[in-house]
Amino acid sequence: MIVMKFGGTSVESREAIERLTLIVGRQRHRQPIVVVSAMGKTTNKLLKTAQEAAAGRRDQALTLVDELRAYHLIEGLAVAGAAAADLDRYIRAHFDWLDELVKGLSIVGELSPRSMDAIASIGERLSSLIVSFALRSAGIPSVHIDARKIVVTDDRFTQAQCDFAETYLRCQQSVAPATEAGVVVMGGYIGATLEDQTTTLGRGGSDFSAAIVGAGVGAEEIQIWTDVDGMLTADPRILAGGHRIKTISFAEAAELAYFGAKVLHPATVLPAIEHDIPVLILNSRRPDVEGTRITSQPPPCLNAVKSISCKRGITIANIHSTRMLMAHGFLRRVFEIFDRFEIPVDMISTSEVSVSLSIDPTDRIEEIAAELRQFAQVSVEENLSIICLVGENIRHTPGIAGRVFECIRDCNIRMISQGASLLNLGFVVADADLNRAVTALHKEFFSVLDPAVFD
Ligand code: ASP
Ligand code: MG
Repeated sequence: MIVMKFGGTSVESREAIERLTLIVGRQRHRQPIVVVSAMGKTTNKLLKTAQEAAAGRRDQALTLVDELRAYHLIEGLAVAGAAAADLDRYIRAHFDWLDELVKGLSIVGELSPRSMDAIASIGERLSSLIVSFALRSAGIPSVHIDARKIVVTDDRFTQAQCDFAETYLRCQQSVAPATEAGVVVMGGYIGATLEDQTTTLGRGGSDFSAAIVGAGVGAEEIQIWTDVDGMLTADPRILAGGHRIKTISFAEAAELAYFGAKVLHPATVLPAIEHDIPVLILNSRRPDVEGTRITSQPPPCLNAVKSISCKRGITIANIHSTRMLMAHGFLRRVFEIFDRFEIPVDMISTSEVSVSLSIDPTDRIEEIAAELRQFAQVSVEENLSIICLVGENIRHTPGIAGRVFECIRDCNIRMISQGASLLNLGFVVADADLNRAVTALHKEFFSVLDPAVFD
């Protein structure tokens, strides 16, 4: 068994779904379980619909429902073949229900997380049905399974936590045997409580669903089909001409994901890591490209660095307190404030009397700074970029820091952090220096490539 997960862009249109059926058809003998996201930008639009309705803008909300209905009917029915009439009925039934809900919400004028999940779930419920119909019309037997019957969660709506034990049991009892009858198709992102209340796993949750199902059935591999060739040695938005990384460790992939590489969030594949199931990143537009294989034990690599990731437009807060000298509890106070504002901190570096930390830009920075100023001096710097070199070999290779800082000797470095994991070296420069720095670093570390690891 394998799990094949297709993201929003990989199911966004008739052509995309046709590509999917070809890709799945070629691997049919491997008993695929297909996990799909909502089509294109459907989830955003569904949530917008809910918000418009709750804000009393009934007509705007109903217009959005009309657009979504038309989109699903046009792109979805085109792939359903002879069974289009059945699918047409399903699609209309979902949007009729949504119409009613929108009318109700616009009267009561409020939106609970539970209603948000009920609405958001429509995207994956429909995309999975549509894909299952598409496979059948392409001559590939397919079984649609409602993910809400499999993925059991608590009732933290919009951010539900998976009950792994129960979910794995259901995967073994219902999903694995169904692969005998045909390609199983399920929606990602959605689940339900034991009481059958629809929940979602948080935005972008389909990768997580794929990993959960893969772990649950003991899949031999989890394929994440997306719109890039895999992980690259440099972020393509910053530097063209990066090389594809053929194999990477879970730990390295996690470091890359934190800073910018939008390919895959590490937390999402945790169940795969725990069960030692390799995860492949593949491009649904170029299915013959091998992609990137993420495993716990990748082959040795002659290059010191696997990739340079970066994140533009970050903010750093420099927090300085002479009272911190010899005092305990200072960092706790600092972090409590960021925690209360629900601001994730990406990178930190400390000295005896100061701490610098990087966060995403937030319009609450002044409020945060005001709280910090109750016990420390604070300065805030904006328009900065994190650059992060990632590679298991960084820790074994002497002289890396010297090479790095020699490369970027004319950039002003605002903050440095050698990751606790020892496989990253990160630092912060001005946004304006980002391109120049990444270009120089890429040249330094990737002029010679280990052919076993890079393409
Ligand atoms: N459709 C959901 C979202 O857009 C889940 C996913 O795409 O992974 O957040
Ligand atoms: Mg997505």
